[in-house]
Amino acid sequence: MRTYTKPKAPKGEPQQFVEIAAYADPGACVLWPYAQAGDGADAGTGYGKLTYAGRQTYSHIVACTLRHGEKPTDDHEAEHLCPNKLCCNGSHMAWALHAPNCQRRTEHGTQLIGEKHNMVKLTEANVRYIRKSKHSGRFLADFFGISPATVSLIRSRKLWRHIV
Ligand SMILES: [Zn+2]
Repeated sequence: MRTYTKPKAPKGEPQQFVEIAAYADPGACVLWPYAQAGDGADAGTGYGKLTYAGRQTYSHIVACTLRHGEKPTDDHEAEHLCPNKLCCNGSHMAWALHAPNCQRRTEHGTQLIGEKHNMVKLTEANVRYIRKSKHSGRFLADFFGISPATVSLIRSRKLWRHIV
């Protein structure tokens, strides 16, 4: 007797992509190759979008949630630690708190740090991430393209003192 098993509906490719990207190695950005925000209410935000768990959402938010857990409070937003809005490498994402009445600046406060060979731009989110991170100084130095000495200066608050 022949049986016919209906093939399981394959999970959408974008959904699989974001689940893998969420746990990607921190070494490189994983750029979203699918639909992007650009029409309707979210025009111009430039984030990857998809339907995930039945909801219309953005790829970086899904990646942040998968990697770091549900957002801690409604005031938290998934923030890129890297400069690529389309990146959905979960390790390049963090939940960041934005004061509700404080209008979000289009550009994060940035400060140039002189490095031996080039100038590296860190955002406030990068600095908070470096202070919170349990990764080694060496790892963070490689990840952000700065020296281990700079990482320890940031951690001991000799640099970027004004950032909590
Ligand atoms: Zn990235």
